[in-house]
Amino acid sequence: MNILINLAPSFAILLVSLYQGWREVRLRRERRELQAIADAMLEDLKTYRRVLKEETAKLQDSVTCPRCGRTSHNPDDIGAGYCGHCHDWTGEP
Ligand SMILES: [Zn+2]
Repeated sequence: MNILINLAPSFAILLVSLYQGWREVRLRRERRELQAIADAMLEDLKTYRRVLKEETAKLQDSVTCPRCGRTSHNPDDIGAGYCGHCHDWTGEP
């Protein structure tokens, strides 16, 4: 009986360290999973922003150059923010 009482604290310490090790592994796995979700959401957001820009450009029927004030109705100029007069990309694409 004495030997069991003497062993009990080290057994408890063993159980606690096993639990901590298991918990650490689980937390690391959760962190990886959350990181993967965050990365995927960021990629989706980039795609949405790009599509939104393209669709917004399609809805515009003209673009006015902030430098020279000329207006173009060319869809390519509108989409790219290009000014044929300045020969430069002066507008928001
Ligand atoms: Zn211009």
